[in-house]
Amino acid sequence: MTLMHTINSVFEAQQKHKYTLRNSNATQRIEKLTALKNSISKFEREIYEALKSDLRKCTFEAAVTEILFIHSEIDFAIKNISDWMQPKKVGKTISNFLAKNRIYYEPKGVCLIIAPWNYPFQLMIGPLVSAIAAGNCAILKPSELSPETSSIIARIIEDCFEEEEIACFEGDAEMSTALLTLSFDHIFFTGSTNIGKIIMTAAAKHLSSVTLELGGKSPVIIDDTANLAQAAQKIAWGKLINAGQTCIAPDYLLIPEKLQDVFIQHYIKAVKDLFFKDQQTIDESVYAKIISQHHFDRLTALVKDALKKGASAALEGHHNTQKHTIGPWVLTQVPADASIMKEEIFGPILPMITYQTLDEAIQFINDKSKPLALYLFSQKRTNIRQILKNTSSGGACINDVLIHISNPKLPFGGINGSGTGSCHGIFGFKTFSHERAVVFQSRFNMTSLIYPPYAKKNWVLNLLHKIM
Ligand code: NAD
Repeated sequence: MTLMHTINSVFEAQQKHKYTLRNSNATQRIEKLTALKNSISKFEREIYEALKSDLRKCTFEAAVTEILFIHSEIDFAIKNISDWMQPKKVGKTISNFLAKNRIYYEPKGVCLIIAPWNYPFQLMIGPLVSAIAAGNCAILKPSELSPETSSIIARIIEDCFEEEEIACFEGDAEMSTALLTLSFDHIFFTGSTNIGKIIMTAAAKHLSSVTLELGGKSPVIIDDTANLAQAAQKIAWGKLINAGQTCIAPDYLLIPEKLQDVFIQHYIKAVKDLFFKDQQTIDESVYAKIISQHHFDRLTALVKDALKKGASAALEGHHNTQKHTIGPWVLTQVPADASIMKEEIFGPILPMITYQTLDEAIQFINDKSKPLALYLFSQKRTNIRQILKNTSSGGACINDVLIHISNPKLPFGGINGSGTGSCHGIFGFKTFSHERAVVFQSRFNMTSLIYPPYAKKNWVLNLLHKIM
């Protein structure tokens, strides 16, 4: 059997099975989520090992950002699923004031979920939790760049689901391309902006709906009222967790010129306190590796290009090609035409840009594509309001970084260049549901008042003008 035959036969089986799942109730969906949760617990040790092998993630970081994250997403769905599934009553209008008006949440059907490699477990299973809660079938395609985690995901899926319900196809771009020829009811893609465009183009052929969770250059702004020591510690953590390979990592820093030198001192101290064994050596037991030779070369080339174009290194990161380790870098005086200011960095390099006025900082952000996250360190309300009102981003944190992703009561997603649609909690449930408008008309046919013939119906028009 060729690959396409196998894919087609699973897809067709899911297309049939989706009608059974449409009728599943909250208890049945909770059973599926519980089975998934149990299987994750059963394979927990192997998941940690896989994350260590793929990215050198330490157990603590893997627990917080991948496994516990998913457990809490599942628990949150289990607790709220009955409520989410309930048809929602909405108000009446004059045209159907005797009718009952409801929004029904129906599953989209058969969904494709494609994941990246940087949080390879969380970003594959998180959307799956929402897809199951909403009553869908799904085909999963993990990233080939995190092969150990991809393999453990495939084993977990096989452990608790039949292929007609949830199936996992491991592989690279060729596998994605083959899957994208099918007419999925929804495609949920997490990955880079460039591949996002390919996904959207493929989806357009079938008019499949899409959610795109993409990346971008997320700025962090420090104003002259910020607590610099605290900001430096938080930014160092947000920038260097997973060696900067985080979609919402602060990408670059905007700071008033007079604060730059003091901030650099705080940042270097924070970096060493958090990720170094001693003043000179990175503690590789808590510092992730760069995922591949390609990304290692890409990052070192970004630094080289910036230095060549006039940037200065305030902190030089130690490189180890064999171990794929790149230490934390800080760059100042970075020219706008350096590649590092044009593309998402996705690594442990922090370029610093100085500004004179907040308006200048705002203009700098708005000249780029809308970012996935925006961070501001400030104690001044008017500055916070000014930045929030005059910029746009998927999400934002004031006086912190990353933590907005951890609350399932908040939507998580980008806007335009950083994505479309959202996930987590009810937002993920709605992403995988179609909101169907349903009107239950009353026995009295009031609508006939607006049927032809219209002669002698001026009084209806007059009445409508008055009350509408
Ligand atoms: P990527 O776009 O290279 O790959 C993502 C997935 O797409 C992988 O499964 C890959 O196999 C597949 N793919 C690759 N080429 C393809 C093609 N031509 N056609 C179809 N599918 C293809 O992204 P990545 O390098 O795995 O991840 C890093 C990117 O993901 C960064 O830009 C980061 O910001 C973004 N990201 C976003 C979020 C979010 O939640 N918004 C989370 C994590 C990562």
